[in-house]
Amino acid sequence: MNGSDKAVPQRIGVLGGGQLARMMALAGLPLGFSFDFLDPAGDACAGVAGALTQADFDDLTAMQGFARHIDVATFDFENVPASSALELAGQLPFYPPVKALESCQDRLVEKQLMRQLDIAVPPFHAVNSRTDLLAAVEELGLPCVLKTRRLGYDGKGQAILRQPEDLERAWQRLGDAALIVEAFVPFEAECSLLAVRGQDGETRYWPLVRNLHHDGVLMLSRPGTFAPALQASAEQLAQRLLQHFDYVGVMTIEFFLREGQLSVNEIAPRVHNSGHWTLDGAETSQFENHLRAISGLPLGSTAMSRPSLMFNWLGELPDRARVLALPGVRWHEYGKAPRPGRKLGHATVVAADTAELEQRAGELARQLGGAWDGWLSRL
Ligand code: AMP
Repeated sequence: MNGSDKAVPQRIGVLGGGQLARMMALAGLPLGFSFDFLDPAGDACAGVAGALTQADFDDLTAMQGFARHIDVATFDFENVPASSALELAGQLPFYPPVKALESCQDRLVEKQLMRQLDIAVPPFHAVNSRTDLLAAVEELGLPCVLKTRRLGYDGKGQAILRQPEDLERAWQRLGDAALIVEAFVPFEAECSLLAVRGQDGETRYWPLVRNLHHDGVLMLSRPGTFAPALQASAEQLAQRLLQHFDYVGVMTIEFFLREGQLSVNEIAPRVHNSGHWTLDGAETSQFENHLRAISGLPLGSTAMSRPSLMFNWLGELPDRARVLALPGVRWHEYGKAPRPGRKLGHATVVAADTAELEQRAGELARQLGGAWDGWLSRL
C-alpha cells in the first residue's frame, strides 16, 4: 500500500441488499473492499457477497450498529428514508449526498429542481385533489400520465389517462397518495446517461444508452447508438445536476428523446439497470466506478470496450444452457426467487462490431421467442 492509498476506506456499507448491491460487491471484492449490507429481507440476494444485517430502513438503532462496522456508506435503493441516511451521514462519509437522495424521492421536488436548473421536463402539475386533477388534465390535455410523487418505480404507482373515463378510475386507485400529473410524451426513443463524479469533482460519462421499456419496465439497453451532439447535450444537463448536488458516485438520468430534443423523465442517484452492460462492454463498470468514487480512488475509463446489448430477465429465467450455447453471451443471475415481474437477472450480448452484435442479439431474441424479436426491432 502506498502513502496515497492509506486513507482509502476498506469496508463499504450498502443500504439495500438487492442485485445492485450484489453487483457492487462482485465488482468491489477484487479491489480489496469488504461489504456490509442492511436490508429488511433476511434472504436479500447481496448477502452471499458480504455480511447482511436484517433491519428496517427506518430502524435508527440498527443504523447506528451498522455504522460501527463500515468506513463509508452508500445505497442501492433510493427510497431509504432521509432520516436514516442523515443518521449515517452524521457518523461517516455517505455518498451520494443525502440531498440528492431526497430530491429524487419525490417526483414533484425533482421536476421543480429541473425547472430551476433550466433542464427540460414534460409539462406537469401537482395533484392533491380531484379538482386539481380535473384542472390539470384540462390544461395538459389527454393523454397524460398520473403518478404518485413517492415510491413509484418501473411504471408502478402510475396510470396513463387516455380518455375522460380514465380519470375517475385512476383517482380511485391512486388518489390516497400525493400525486403529479404530467403530459404524455410521444417520444421517438428513451435513453439514459450514466455519469460518475469523484470526490475531487472529476466527472466521466458512459455513452448514452438506448432503452426499450415494456409496461414501464426496462427490457433492452444498447449503448453507443446516438450522435456525439446528443451525447454532448446530455452531458451538459448532467453536469448541472452533479454540480448542484456536489455529487459523488454514479448518477443516472433517464430521458425522453423527441424531435432531437431531450427532456428528463427521472433521475436515479445510484447505479442503474440501464448501466448493466458496462460490466461486459465498458472499460470500467458502473459498479466499479461508483466504488472508486465513494472511496476516493481514481476513476476508471468509461469508454465502450466493444459493442454490447443487454437483455433483462423478468419473472422467470430463460434456459441458461440454451442461452449460453450462443456465442458472445454473458449471463448474470441475481440469486432471487422467481416472482411475476421480478428482476431475476440479465444477459449481455457482446461482439467485435455492430453487424456481429445485431446478428447475435437477433439470434438470442429468436431463441427466447415470445415478444423479444419485436422489442429488439423497436430498440
Ligand atoms: P417511470 O416509472 O416514471 O420511469 O416510467 C416508466 C416508463 O413509463 C418510462 O420509461 C416510459 O416508458 C413511460 N412513461 C413514464 N412517463 C411518461 C410520459 N410522461 N410520457 C410517455 N411515457 C412515459
